[in-house]
Amino acid sequence: MTHDASASGALAGIPDDPPPPGEAVEIAPEVFWLRMPLPFALNHVNLWLIGEADGYTLVDCGYGDATTRAHWQRHFETTFAHRPIRRIVATHCHPDHLGNAAWLAAHFGCTIAMTLGEFVAAHALIGEHAGFGPADVRALFARHGMAATHLAALSGRGNHYRVGVPEAPHAFVRLIDGDRLAAGPWVWQVIAGYGHSPEHAALASREAQEKILHAWKAGAQTIALRRQLEAMPDGGVFVMHIPKAPYRCPPGPYERACQVALYFSTRKPKSKVIILDANEDVQSKKELFTAAWNGRYKGYVEYRPNSGLVDVEVTTLTAKLDFDDVKADVLNIIPPQHAGGVARALGMANANGRFCQVDFLTYESTAERNIHVLGDAIQPAELMPKSGHMANQHGKVCAAAVVALLTTGEVNPAPVIANTCYSYIDDKEVVHVASVHRYDPATKTMSVVAGSGGLSAAANVEETVYAEAWAKNIWADMLT
Ligand SMILES: Cc1cc2nc3c(=O)[nH]c(=O)nc-3n(C[C@H](O)[C@H](O)[C@H](O)COP(=O)(O)OP(=O)(O)OC[C@H]3O[C@@H](n4cnc5c(N)ncnc54)[C@H](O)[C@@H]3O)c2cc1C
Repeated sequence: MTHDASASGALAGIPDDPPPPGEAVEIAPEVFWLRMPLPFALNHVNLWLIGEADGYTLVDCGYGDATTRAHWQRHFETTFAHRPIRRIVATHCHPDHLGNAAWLAAHFGCTIAMTLGEFVAAHALIGEHAGFGPADVRALFARHGMAATHLAALSGRGNHYRVGVPEAPHAFVRLIDGDRLAAGPWVWQVIAGYGHSPEHAALASREAQEKILHAWKAGAQTIALRRQLEAMPDGGVFVMHIPKAPYRCPPGPYERACQVALYFSTRKPKSKVIILDANEDVQSKKELFTAAWNGRYKGYVEYRPNSGLVDVEVTTLTAKLDFDDVKADVLNIIPPQHAGGVARALGMANANGRFCQVDFLTYESTAERNIHVLGDAIQPAELMPKSGHMANQHGKVCAAAVVALLTTGEVNPAPVIANTCYSYIDDKEVVHVASVHRYDPATKTMSVVAGSGGLSAAANVEETVYAEAWAKNIWADMLT
């Protein structure tokens, strides 16, 4: 089973201590956690029960040995005394997941749902068909250089799969990637993948994602957030969570808080915005945003720094913090961010596993030669925001450097880049922050040029003209 990082509360409140053998612990409405022992390293496997009106759906079955079956026997008398297993979902064919599926299905007279790839693989492993037998596995390991002593040890084990899966299911209900499975109060999406096993199925609850939006990408999510706010009754609370920096557009969340406060002050005056910030302070334009929250939006906006999010409870729309629970009527979680999958898959996210470290003269990755990285995917130098303006500037320095590398080999040793960012405080007044960053050969990073940039003195209408001109210019520069 899996759940989305942006709204993890589908399985909220997982306790620190695992359930003792033979017991099931409820970790979300009608989702129960069981643990079974394993006779090898990793020593346990987690299994899941989803409560239905007349029984349970069991997700995975444990290793098919006498010890695990003794634990199941205890569950027959306790957990399943009044609510039997009505359906088994086997995520994949490995013995710790499939081992007792056929045995449990025979006991309860229930079906087993799994993917075709896993069903066929289980039979091939038991029957030693089509390259799945122990001899084929040994031959593969030998080709990859396994030592003779280890090969001999492997040979002595015989068909080890049959030890953990004494019997594979004879029939199955086929799961296909994208299927939706109703179980308990949840609808689960089947996500099939490969790698760990041939056609592994994970179950993800999409309800959480539909209910708690990030709205950090314009389009369907921002429109849906607007609808949630419109549907919220007056007197409701809009709670927004900001992740630890660096994240895209440092002033963005505070600007959103202003816009929602503007809407509340004109249309829903009994309502309130609570900003839960994982950071210790406002990340951008601090004086200007706090002036708005203490001035025109007084009573509408409450700012709470150092509010790291621990969990989210979807059913009650509650943000769970270290020492506090904050209940919302509309909950907006901006998730922690990292470079895209392609960068991470290539091992290029070498700054805390999140962003890509680059040489600021060329924007070449420090992990992979000849690959240049721009924009939000890079680990920025201090005080360099993740912004469209910055991404545009990276592109120009990088393009010039690549041309130089392909021709003269002499890249500009002292690039200078700039950033400007405008935020709307209400529908008429705007503020800006600007900065200039120069390459520092001593530290090999970008540092802010002393005396450059700055902030608006106060929110003002004149800067709306500049804000719109900035947008038109950058679109013209990049999109035409
Ligand atoms: C709410 C909000 C407000 C903002 N306001 C401002 C602002 O006022 N001013 C400002 O300067 N900046 C602003 N920004 C920041 C700005 O949007 C980003 O900094 C900028 O878009 C970064 O550009 P990028 O090219 O690095 O990334 P992106 O714009 O995200 O572009 C990356 C592209 O790569 C594509 N992609 C990803 N993986 C693959 C793949 N494997 N194969 C092919 N394509 C792939 C993605 O679909 C995407 O189109 C804002 C951001 C947000 C979220």
